[in-house]
This record gives sequence, structure tokens and C-alpha cells, in this order.
Amino acid sequence: MTDTKEAEANASVTLLEMKENAAAQQPPTYGTVTSQASPSSASKSPSDSIVISVPEVFDHDPTSCSCWNCHQHIVTRTEKKIGYLPWIICMAIGCLCCWLGCCLIPFCIRDFKDTEHYCPNCGTLLAHKRRV
Ligand SMILES: [Zn+2]
Repeated sequence: MTDTKEAEANASVTLLEMKENAAAQQPPTYGTVTSQASPSSASKSPSDSIVISVPEVFDHDPTSCSCWNCHQHIVTRTEKKIGYLPWIICMAIGCLCCWLGCCLIPFCIRDFKDTEHYCPNCGTLLAHKRRV
């Protein structure tokens, strides 16, 4: 009697193990299904972000971009403004005891000045490019 009960118990245990294995095997298949579904949904969002975000880098030359104020595609109008760099060079020349007005030369050199980018349509200041 005990042998048959043990055999039945073993059989039931093996059945339970098989059910557990079957149950354990099923969730990964569901997981793979969901993982197959997620890349298709995820592949849509990068394409949208590529269309929307275009970084605009302003240099010291007129730059082609779209104005955030009037929404026109324009080439920026640049103006040179005196920034920190001419003052730094002026003080460096002044420290070298050159008092004959040489320290004013950096203020006349175009390449030492900052650049401001304006929209030619509406005149909005779009960017300020600093030398320092
Ligand atoms: Zn504009």
C-alpha cells in the first residue's frame, strides 16, 4: 500500500513539476511577445525625435536657421559687440607698461569681439556667441 502511495505521490510530484515547468516555460514566451511588440512601438519615437530636434550651432559668421519668433527660415544678421576678450587683452598690454594707447588696439580688432545673431525679418536676438 505504501509503495503505491509513494509511487502515486512521486507521479503527482512529477506531474506538478511538469505543470510548473510548463507554467515556467509559458511566461518567457509571453515575455518575448511583449518584447517583440515593444521595439515596434519604440522604433516610432526615435523617428519622431529626429524630425523634431535639429540642433542649431551659431558661430561668428551668419548662420542659416529658423527664427523662433517669426518662424521663417533665415540667415542671421550678425553684429560685433565688445565682450570680455578685448578687456582681458587691454589689461594684459597695460600690465606690460605700454601706455601709448596700444591697449586700445584690441577694441578695434573684429576677431576679438563677440557676435550677436539677429533675425533680419523681425530683428529678434537669436544668439550671442562669446569669444571667452
Ligand atoms: Zn524672426
